Amino acid sequence: MAFRHQIETISGQNSNLCYQCSKCSAGCPMADWMDLKPAQVMHAIRLGQEELVLHSRSIWLCVGCETCSARCPQDVQPAAAMNAARVIARRRGIKPGVKEIGLYYNGFVNNMRLNGKIHDASVAGITQLLTGQLKDSMPLAWKLFTRGRVKPPPLPFGGGEFRRIYKRAMEREMREEQHP
Ligand code: SF4
Ligand code: SF4
Repeated sequence: MAFRHQIETISGQNSNLCYQCSKCSAGCPMADWMDLKPAQVMHAIRLGQEELVLHSRSIWLCVGCETCSARCPQDVQPAAAMNAARVIARRRGIKPGVKEIGLYYNGFVNNMRLNGKIHDASVAGITQLLTGQLKDSMPLAWKLFTRGRVKPPPLPFGGGEFRRIYKRAMEREMREEQHP
């Protein structure tokens, strides 16, 4: 299936509707750090430049704020297209263009699998440990802890139901992609 159709199947976004006005890029709070601005991502999807999109930093730097989608005069949702590109990149085993964010994603999902819900401090702490930033963030972590802003982690192994939901969702997504 062509790349732009894969994006459309997952996100419902038709890149052909984008007429490159760049309103999405102009409003994106992360655009300064992106290698491809949101409008360029949409253009690359339309042209089938999947390697460019899937290896970009942009799809990982998108924070899903939806500003781009709200500004689009064509009712296109670049945020959803970015999300779909991340899904495809993960399925293909492509390393995230921003290592720290890839580690954060792994930590998030693993935390859900283990506990059935997110414990923010654990995810942040593990990400910082793996990226060598734990020492620098300790003063802030301690301040938050002493002010009661960091709760102890829940007892593990409460994620059985989540694991079942996750498995069903993945199977359904694979089916829909194979038989759109
Ligand atoms: S705002 Fe919409 S039409 Fe304009 S470039 Fe972005 S996605 Fe395309
Ligand atoms: S959803 Fe992503 S691409 Fe869109 S404006 Fe927000 S950060 Fe930028």
